[in-house]
Amino acid sequence: MSQKIAIVGGGYIGAELAKSLDDTAEVTLIEPRSHFVHAPAMIRAVVDPSLLDRALIPYDRLLTNGRVIASKAKAIDAKGVTLEDGTRVEADQIVVATGSSNAMPFKPQGADIAGLKADNQRIHQQLKAARRIGIVGAGAVGTELAGEISYAMPDKKVTLISSDEALFPTMPSKLGSSLAAKLRKAGVTLILGQRAENLESMTEPYAGSLQLADGSQHDFDLIFPVIGSRANSEVLETLAGVQKTTANRIKVDPWMRPSSLPNVFAAGDVADVGDAMTIVATSRQLPWAVNGGVKFGHCGGAKVGQFGASALERAALI
Ligand SMILES: Cc1cc2nc3c(=O)[nH]c(=O)nc-3n(C[C@H](O)[C@H](O)[C@H](O)COP(=O)(O)OP(=O)(O)OC[C@H]3O[C@@H](n4cnc5c(N)ncnc54)[C@H](O)[C@@H]3O)c2cc1C
Repeated sequence: MSQKIAIVGGGYIGAELAKSLDDTAEVTLIEPRSHFVHAPAMIRAVVDPSLLDRALIPYDRLLTNGRVIASKAKAIDAKGVTLEDGTRVEADQIVVATGSSNAMPFKPQGADIAGLKADNQRIHQQLKAARRIGIVGAGAVGTELAGEISYAMPDKKVTLISSDEALFPTMPSKLGSSLAAKLRKAGVTLILGQRAENLESMTEPYAGSLQLADGSQHDFDLIFPVIGSRANSEVLETLAGVQKTTANRIKVDPWMRPSSLPNVFAAGDVADVGDAMTIVATSRQLPWAVNGGVKFGHCGGAKVGQFGASALERAALI
């Protein structure tokens, strides 16, 4: 009899895993959103909202054999998942891939796809009307947003502010300095090594004034707070013994298990395996999840390193 596998969250790793196991296991994907959200396109969609329809992909044709339940998981245990309305989904193996949240309009707030579209339209109109744009945070999203706005709307005066001394601080410094040169050439003002002290919102663009750590004051018609993703770890916190690391992520063992339960796994942004929260990192976890761990349970299955999961290898797991 085939394994019953419940996957909580249909983002990059959850949707891919569900599809990969659809022919060989009895898959249930639990996902409250009506559409998969292709996050990388959301940055350009701020300057070009026509991209949005192509970047939101309905779940209705994802699985041929398995089922997608449009609901939010509330709790996990050894035998399955409890949904928001109390319904039970029994499973032999459970994968929690609840991902992360980000500022609007880069990811939906909760399950609200209509809200994401409305936010995108509203913020696009605000951007068109604005002259002075402040972007707070120079990670991947902030840096890319500065590039997109300066390229598509060269009349805007874009200022990128970060408390770090370099763009993309988590990547090799050569990348940050090369991107900084390109942005300056495109007319973007960079203020690095300065913390914005008075952000009014961490998640929502607004018009206002920013006070920086050096006491300087900067007025903007639109401020984008883009200070990083935070993992959606609430469901995992219902398990005994889980440990949180940075940005709400959950520590996992060498087999991507967040607790002592051998059949409950965490994957993607929510699982801290030592990698950054990126699609690239989820793609390093997927081969093991598909071919070894989740399909067979870690006891009977292949070991992580056999499938080249580099972050896990770094943790000397093989
Ligand atoms: C604007 C932006 C641009 C990006 N660009 C890039 C890029 O170019 N390259 C790159 O490598 N990475 C990029 N990233 C990072 C990338 O989007 C994430 O690493 C990726 O989304 C993580 O995938 P995931 O499957 O772990 O989670 P997510 O994609 O976040 O998906 C999680 C899913 O779980 C669902 N969920 C949450 N809670 C529950 C619950 N309780 N029950 C059921 N379902 C639940 C959510 O609805 C969601 O669909 C970008 C991120 C952002 C915000």
